[in-house]
Amino acid sequence: MNNLTLNSNAFNRDYRFVPTQSAPQHAMRVQLDLPQDEEFSTTAKAVGVAGLLRLAQYGLEKLSGVCSAALMAGKEFAPREDVEKVANTMKKEKGLSAYIHYIDHKNKVGLQNMFPNLSKSLDVVADGRNAFYTNQGNFVVAPKSKPSLILHELGHAINFEKSSVMRGLQKLRVVGMFAPMAIAALNNASGAKRDGKKNFWERNAGTIGFCAFLPTIIEEAAASIRGINAAKKTLGSSANLKVLKKNYFLAWMTYLLAGIGTGIAAKLAITDVPDVKINI
Ligand SMILES: [Zn+2]
Repeated sequence: MNNLTLNSNAFNRDYRFVPTQSAPQHAMRVQLDLPQDEEFSTTAKAVGVAGLLRLAQYGLEKLSGVCSAALMAGKEFAPREDVEKVANTMKKEKGLSAYIHYIDHKNKVGLQNMFPNLSKSLDVVADGRNAFYTNQGNFVVAPKSKPSLILHELGHAINFEKSSVMRGLQKLRVVGMFAPMAIAALNNASGAKRDGKKNFWERNAGTIGFCAFLPTIIEEAAASIRGINAAKKTLGSSANLKVLKKNYFLAWMTYLLAGIGTGIAAKLAITDVPDVKINI
């Protein structure tokens, strides 16, 4: 992953959600070997739908890339000492057990030795391209070059340690990740009839896929709001909260887009395109 996103969990830090089993990414053109029979129109329609969905995925990817690039180019909202002051206040006021780390390529090694399974994720953070919270390692980590990301990650830590509702939403993250596959499996298991009528899964795959991702979108917003509120409370009017809000909004947008992408992936996963070759 080449772009910066804010994630709570090192294990699913890549939030560019694309369907793993199907679509190539750059669906700009659909070539057809169309069957010459009465199923022609049904097949052509299915292929048309699949093509449009893949085009939509491509658009989402591009848009997400724009958000990430803007985030990468984003300024810090306050000097390092101010950010650290906010972070320390958050930890103290909430009585958090999570440790706070700011790393670069010089001081990353200590954490990497302690958590070898997070070594690659920590490299990305040291690069200045990511930040994360891990409840297994019980720490938050942000790049030394972009310390303000820590406030969002502390928001995740507070959600995990201090809010059972938000912690529940964090646990539902996995549902969003596997929704397209699960919906396809349920659709197959329901013995979809081919009488022209759509079954429940076929009618609702997109909505269900998006809703499966909704807990993540909500929890991400909650983590950012905690960070912004803490900055406002600790630094008052001296902080340039506009910049912080903008950065966090861009990060949140990538999650919203990923949610929409999950809906599309779910719809694609059950779109039946029989015996038709699609070349991209
Ligand atoms: Zn996050």
